[in-house]
Amino acid sequence: MSDAVKLAMFGGSRTVGKQDVSKALVGWPVVTDQEQDALRGVLDRGLFTSNDAGRGEVSALQQEWAQYVGTQYCAAVANGTAALELSLAALDIEPGSEVLVPALTFIGSAAPIVQRQLVPVFVDIDPVTYTMDPVAAEKAVTGRTRALIAVHLHGLPCDMGALRALADRHGLYVIEDAAQAQGAEYGGRRAGSLGDINAVSLNAVKNLPTCGEGGLVTTNDENLHERVVLRRQFGEDLRPGRERDYISRVLAGNEKMSAVQAAFTRCQLSRLDSDSAARDRVVRRFLGRLSALPGVIAPTCPDDRTHAWHILRLRFDPAAAGFPELPAGQFRAMLQRALRAEGVPLQSYQIVPLPGQPAFQHLGVPIADYQVSMAVIDESVTLQRWHLNPNCGPVLDLCASAFEKVWARLDELAPLAAAMNHRPPWHQVMSGAAR
Ligand SMILES: *Cc1c(COP(=O)(O)O)cnc(C)c1O
Repeated sequence: MSDAVKLAMFGGSRTVGKQDVSKALVGWPVVTDQEQDALRGVLDRGLFTSNDAGRGEVSALQQEWAQYVGTQYCAAVANGTAALELSLAALDIEPGSEVLVPALTFIGSAAPIVQRQLVPVFVDIDPVTYTMDPVAAEKAVTGRTRALIAVHLHGLPCDMGALRALADRHGLYVIEDAAQAQGAEYGGRRAGSLGDINAVSLNAVKNLPTCGEGGLVTTNDENLHERVVLRRQFGEDLRPGRERDYISRVLAGNEKMSAVQAAFTRCQLSRLDSDSAARDRVVRRFLGRLSALPGVIAPTCPDDRTHAWHILRLRFDPAAAGFPELPAGQFRAMLQRALRAEGVPLQSYQIVPLPGQPAFQHLGVPIADYQVSMAVIDESVTLQRWHLNPNCGPVLDLCASAFEKVWARLDELAPLAAAMNHRPPWHQVMSGAAR
């Protein structure tokens, strides 16, 4: 058997070699002369803080993001988690009230609920979109529910029509967690403008990054906006033109953004649409090749929205691949090993439904209530980061070739997968009560 055909996990050569993967192709964020000049400009002008009286980078970014998504107001803050926490704080919900949040998302979607002394109520996801299932959400509503957090997981806007209708029926606020979906659209409107109050993260790994940490909160409600602004800065009124009075009108911490962060993101925002379009082309080509392989379930995008392709989740169906007796978790685990050996950096993204996180286990919510999330976690893997760079086409082409190589030799892998002593990803964090 030739080396190129032999699987890398059995000693053949890797499909995606280290020499194929350069920073110019897969580095993220992409840093150009535009960013270099903008950051030098901040240093030269010396306006470093967000209290720039409307003259500096933070004010400009706020205006540009509000205009980009189509909302009246935007407040720049320290990070995406702070953006969600301040959004919840602005809504002024009675402590102990319940807030719906999907069971499969980043901890940053749910931790702010507890920080605000509210109760997270986890909702299972839809098996196709991987976002909150509106039917499950309806069932989770109680007399104490006050809000829901609509997370556009992996960059696909969630079913906002159904969630908005549900929120209206029950008098709930909708808080958008668009941390993974900058630039995506739902029904012709941009993510970051779809809820009553909306949060994005500008963390360096996101589709609209800064060179560090940052976040943005948007709304059309002047009251909510003012409350966010007050709470990001010690409860002080620091409006341009006013002398600082050091009066804290509410108890609040410091969650402001700095000028360097804003300047970097402004450059990225000027390229967001062209970067998103380029990414859409290469990712669709990659997913097209994968979809041709029986048993690969590639992410899809309903017609009424666009996908930011922040994370690519690939799920596997052993029956469709010709191995109906093979448990799907074992099939996934074996494919993950074989494909990683070929040089495809497949990773888990979230290894347990949120109520199983050690930080949430005291709530006593069994993860078994989240069957769709559990199956998705066990039967799928993700590709993160590489594909964010619009120049990553050649690398994704090699990744697709690795899948094709492995698929041509599934007969060698299936017996090994069947003999595996399989432990689902959550095994390492589950103990006792909440299991
Ligand atoms: C990244 C992320 C957050 C938190 O953003 P940070 O800027 O890292 O605090 C929240 N929710 C989701 C879905 C995220 O991906």
